Amino acid sequence: MAIHKLLLLPGDGIGPEVMAQAKNVVAWLERNGIAKFAIEEDLVGGSAYEAHSKSISETAMDKALAADAILFGAVGGPKWDKVPYDVRPEAGLLRLRKDLALFANLRPAICYPALAESSSLKRELVDGLDLMIIRELTGGVYFGEPKTITDLGNGQKRAVDTQVYDTYEIERIARVAFELARKRRNKVTSMEKRNVMKTGVLWHEVVEQVHEREYKDVQLEHQLADAGGMQLVRNPKQFDVIVTDNLFGDMLSDVAAMLTGSLGMLPSASLGETDAKTKKRRALYEPVHGSAPDIAGKGTANPIAMIGSLGMAMRYSFGLGQAADMIEQAIAGALGKGLRTADIAGTGAKTIGTSEMGEAIIAELDGLAARA
Ligand code: NAD
Repeated sequence: MAIHKLLLLPGDGIGPEVMAQAKNVVAWLERNGIAKFAIEEDLVGGSAYEAHSKSISETAMDKALAADAILFGAVGGPKWDKVPYDVRPEAGLLRLRKDLALFANLRPAICYPALAESSSLKRELVDGLDLMIIRELTGGVYFGEPKTITDLGNGQKRAVDTQVYDTYEIERIARVAFELARKRRNKVTSMEKRNVMKTGVLWHEVVEQVHEREYKDVQLEHQLADAGGMQLVRNPKQFDVIVTDNLFGDMLSDVAAMLTGSLGMLPSASLGETDAKTKKRRALYEPVHGSAPDIAGKGTANPIAMIGSLGMAMRYSFGLGQAADMIEQAIAGALGKGLRTADIAGTGAKTIGTSEMGEAIIAELDGLAARA
């Protein structure tokens, strides 16, 4: 059995609390002979700053570069609001994304039937929803140069951001989308603004070419990003895989997040290039939520986004799709029994804590294994 190199970076706030539950699932997978891991653990964010005066140490970076996948909790908190900008907690995460060249951000929006009522949309629109937004993460307007604010005198300033995309950046993100669609319902919707942006014109052209050349078997459609945003709240179940740039992806994935209820439910993955020699992709898996300082230390955080992120690692880094299915079914099972952490409980409903939710998911996994 292959041994998967997994680096755990719990981070700050609720990061270590939810990571503890993911570790229990890792231990369960090993105990049940489903997977074998070589596990390393290190500090990131504010906790790394306390120990090393920087938000990630070189030792931790070396471990990250050697890992098959990284499981990341969350970073940040008011305690570090005043530390120098380049060593602030978030810098650790940005360094990981940059040094590992993680250009594709995968954000699934799955609505568990048991939670359809907590969506801001009507139950019938979101019940059973399962879509994936793929956001380009290392290019576009967040990084393009020039990026300036110039004083024009006379009390006026001019701010400039630059949206830039090269062919190769669009090609590689399009490939991620088509590959993923093949493992799902075989449909990709590409979103840009080709009606008003040159980057949109190129985006559309390159996605078409990659499709024509390499992925003709996958259904491809295009939507303007503003219309796509409207469709996302009008009829989200029409989508399977959405691929879009950094800026539109940032917004559309947050919209999609609200379709599913709570931040505490949402996993994500950030993927890099496949190494030609090892055939492995650099990858970091993390919940979408932050370190939630308002509830840190109270034992009330929802561990589902973290455990779901481990599930994504099983599917996209370790080729263990069945283990990923089991984790998702176990989460759905615990929710189906009516178990709720505070963030997903209706008013007045009984709630359970972080470790009870983790234990309930393990109990569901036991049940699934016994039936297999
Ligand atoms: P947040 O996601 O930490 O919290 C927003 C709200 O959602 C809070 O009320 C919180 O209690 C709740 N929440 C979040 N995760 C939850 C969970 N698993 N279970 C139950 N409730 C949950 O966002 P924020 O408050 O804007 O930021 C707090 C800190 O986290 C800041 O320092 C911010 O910079 C950092 N942050 C880090 C990341 C990351 O590490 N990737 C992402 C976002 C924010």
